[in-house]
Amino acid sequence: MTDSQPLDALADFPAIPAGWAYLDTAATAQKPQAVVDAITRAYGETYATVHRGVYQRSADMTLAYEAARQRVAGFIGAGSADEIVFVRGATEGINLVAQCWAATQLKAGDRILLSMLEHHSNIVPWQMVAERVGAAIDVAPLTADGRIDLDAVEAMLTPAHKLVALAHVSNVLGSVLDVARATALAHGVGAKILIDGCQAVPRLPVDVTALNCDFYVFSGHKLYGPTGIGVLWAKAELLDAMPPWQGGGSMIDRVTFQKTTYAPPPGRFEAGTPHIVGALGLHAAIDYVEAIGLERIHVHEGALVAQARDALGSINSVRLFGPADAAGIVSFAIEGVHPHDIGTILDEQQVAIRAGHHCAQPLMDALGVPATARASFGVYNGPADVEALARGIERVTRIFG
Ligand code: PMP
Repeated sequence: MTDSQPLDALADFPAIPAGWAYLDTAATAQKPQAVVDAITRAYGETYATVHRGVYQRSADMTLAYEAARQRVAGFIGAGSADEIVFVRGATEGINLVAQCWAATQLKAGDRILLSMLEHHSNIVPWQMVAERVGAAIDVAPLTADGRIDLDAVEAMLTPAHKLVALAHVSNVLGSVLDVARATALAHGVGAKILIDGCQAVPRLPVDVTALNCDFYVFSGHKLYGPTGIGVLWAKAELLDAMPPWQGGGSMIDRVTFQKTTYAPPPGRFEAGTPHIVGALGLHAAIDYVEAIGLERIHVHEGALVAQARDALGSINSVRLFGPADAAGIVSFAIEGVHPHDIGTILDEQQVAIRAGHHCAQPLMDALGVPATARASFGVYNGPADVEALARGIERVTRIFG
C-alpha cells in the first residue's frame, strides 16, 4: 500500500461483520487480527509472570513486557522507556497524576485550569484533589466552532495556576488542540500541563518531546489494543519526585516492618502483577497502526469527517457540532428527536453510533443539549459507512416527520 491509496483495513478486523457500519471508535476501537493473535499467542504459548521468575519463560516474558514499554516510548517520542508507566487506562493515568503529583504539590489558593470540553475523567480527579488541598478550578471556554479558546486561556492564566489539564482531541467535537501553544502558555506562568491524549493517539502523530508537555495519558483500547492497559507518560524529573501510587509487590526496593524504600520509576507506580498480556497486545496494536501510518490515518479520517459533515449538513433538521477539521469525530443532533432514538433507529439499519452525554456533561450544558449523537471513525471505515449513516439519518427524519 502507498500513502496515496485509499485505506482499506476492514479485512483485518474479524469482529466487524459485512454490512455493519461501526461508527463508535471514539468509545473503543475494534481489534485487528494481529492484536487478537498477539493476545492468543501470549496466553496460549508463551505465558508466564514478569519481573519475578528465575526460569527462562519468565525472563522471556519480562523482556517482552519491557519491549512493549520501549515500543510505547518510541511511538509517542518519549525520551526514555522509564518515563512510560503502564496503567489501566487514561482514567487511571489522570488519577495517578492527581493523587501523586497534584495532591502533594498543590496547596490552598492554587488554581487548576481545565476546559469546557473535558471528559469527566479529566474533571473529577482534579475536583477531588482541589477539595482535598483547597485549590480552585477554572474552566476555559470554547470558540464558536468548538475548540478550546487558547486566547481565553492566555488571559485566564495567572501565577496561581499550578496545573493545566486539557484534551488533545475532544471526544465529542473532534476539535484538535494546539498542544505546543497550550504548553507554552502553561509554562509561561510556571504551571505544569497534562494532556489527555485518548482521542489523539489513534488519530494523529504524537511526539511528547516536541510538544514539550509534562504529562500525557492515553488508553490502549482506543488505539486498537486491549482494554485494561493504558499509558501515563511524564517527564523523568516529575516521576522521580512523585511518591508511590499504590503499595504492594514490584514497586519496592526493600521492605522491612520498620521502613520500606521504593523502586525508581516506572516500577514505583506499577504495584502488583501488571496486565502483562495487555502490554503485549498494545505493542501489537502500535505495530499495526504504525504500519499504516498515523499521517495516513489522519487524512483518511479527515475525509470521512468531511463526507459525513456534508451529508448530514444537507439535512435540514440536523445540527452539527464541532469544527470542519475535526479529527475522526462528528457529533450532531436532530431537532425534536432524542439522540437515543437516533441511535436505536440507526442500529436497525446496522449503523452503530454513540448517543448520550459522552462523559462530558459540562460540555452538553454549554451546547444547550442533554445529549448528542456521535459518529466516530477508525481505519476500518470507508465512504460506504458514511453513506449508510446518512441513509439512516434520512430515515430518522422521515419517521419523526
Ligand atoms: N478522555 C477522553 C477524551 C476519552 O475519550 C476517554 C474515553 N471515552 C477517556 C478520557 C477515558 O478513557 P478510559 O475510559 O479508557 O480510561
